[in-house]
Amino acid sequence: MSGLFAAAFLRRIGWDVDVYERSPVELVGRGAGITTHPELLQALELCGAGTHDLGIMVERRIAIDRKGRVIADKPFPQLLTSWDRLQRLLRDAVPAENYHLGCNFERLEQDGREVVIHFTGGRRERADLLIGGDGIRSAVRAQLAPEIQPIYAGYYIWRGAPNEADLAPATRASIFPHFTFYLPERQQVIGYPIAGFDNDLSPGRRRYNFIWYRVGDAATLRAMCVDDNGRQHDYSVPPPLIRRDLIAGLLAEAEDELPPAFFDTLRKIDRPFFTPIYDFSSPQIVFGRAILLGDAASSARPHMGFGVAKAGDDARVLADALASHDDIDRALAHYQAVRAPMAERIMLHGRKLGTHLGVDLKTAQDREMWKMLQDYRAMMDWIAVPNFVAA
Ligand SMILES: Cc1cc2nc3c(=O)[nH]c(=O)nc-3n(C[C@H](O)[C@H](O)[C@H](O)COP(=O)(O)OP(=O)(O)OC[C@H]3O[C@@H](n4cnc5c(N)ncnc54)[C@H](O)[C@@H]3O)c2cc1C
Repeated sequence: MSGLFAAAFLRRIGWDVDVYERSPVELVGRGAGITTHPELLQALELCGAGTHDLGIMVERRIAIDRKGRVIADKPFPQLLTSWDRLQRLLRDAVPAENYHLGCNFERLEQDGREVVIHFTGGRRERADLLIGGDGIRSAVRAQLAPEIQPIYAGYYIWRGAPNEADLAPATRASIFPHFTFYLPERQQVIGYPIAGFDNDLSPGRRRYNFIWYRVGDAATLRAMCVDDNGRQHDYSVPPPLIRRDLIAGLLAEAEDELPPAFFDTLRKIDRPFFTPIYDFSSPQIVFGRAILLGDAASSARPHMGFGVAKAGDDARVLADALASHDDIDRALAHYQAVRAPMAERIMLHGRKLGTHLGVDLKTAQDREMWKMLQDYRAMMDWIAVPNFVAA
């Protein structure tokens, strides 16, 4: 998303931009849901991608108890989209000839005016500017600021997005239309409807985005990262390789612990997958003519659902700075001055919301925040809400 946002914005101010993606095949989002924010909608409009058929407008937030009874109900209109839809809109904003699959960044050299970029297999490109939008495990950042490492939050999520048509009638009637919370101690289960395959928004053909936060220390996570073939992975396991015994254990626990509609949702996911939660914020995001953007620059815990919005906003500020300065280096200094502190603020906000899970509460303020968030109404007021940056 970061690379595409940057390309779309910079093309609008007259730059020639190419996007190099390491994946040899088109990316798919495995049904990930994305909450929208005004900053995201604005970035999509301004970069030319637009917001056509972006997603599903949900009218209410509800909280349910273990038996599935509604214990809170709050009108809260919010547009919910999906990774696939956003990626399609942004891909269409960048000409096909400027988007290159199968190009794995390896290293860069720079002399103050130009960057030479080396890809696996020997391909080399020269540019005025290299934008590292290569995600939380950024290879660009690994060369420029190897000391910056994402920090494990002490919890992970199981997720997936089953088809609406596969859900039980009771699930479709109770939680499906809503942004739904189930909040037992040290856990969070959140769900909301998103578009179906090929961005199908019609009733009966949509999906339900399921997210289950669970606490687990580094040793637990390491054990989970052994795949079906017995191979140890560093950070997470590609979904098709997640061990079957892990999924069987998850389903057994879910039957005991989840409200029936959320258990039904989880059971209907073809292959649930887990994502460990990390965060970090790099104080330096401009390194001569190579810069970091999106998750490569900073990544917050996903409680605000703001990662893509931040990527779009980073790209917007970068393009504005380049358009309003004659000198590239001065424009980049502006980008550094504006975006690095903002990233830090967003990351810290994510940590505050993460105190709900009760992991590693270090300060009195953490414990106060934890206490406040034990009230599910506070969670409904804070999780993935728009305009939190201004607030
Ligand atoms: C559980 C969870 C829920 C989330 N929910 C939301 C939400 O509701 N709303 C929201 O806005 N955000 C959400 N996010 C965050 C969001 O997914 C990220 O912030 C967003 O994807 C960042 O985009 P990016 O382009 O910076 O990084 P990425 O999406 O990681 O993309 C990086 C790209 O760079 C490519 N790449 C990596 N290395 C190389 C290399 N060496 N050479 C070439 N290419 C390379 C990768 O293949 C990838 O395509 C969530 C994240 C998580 C984990």
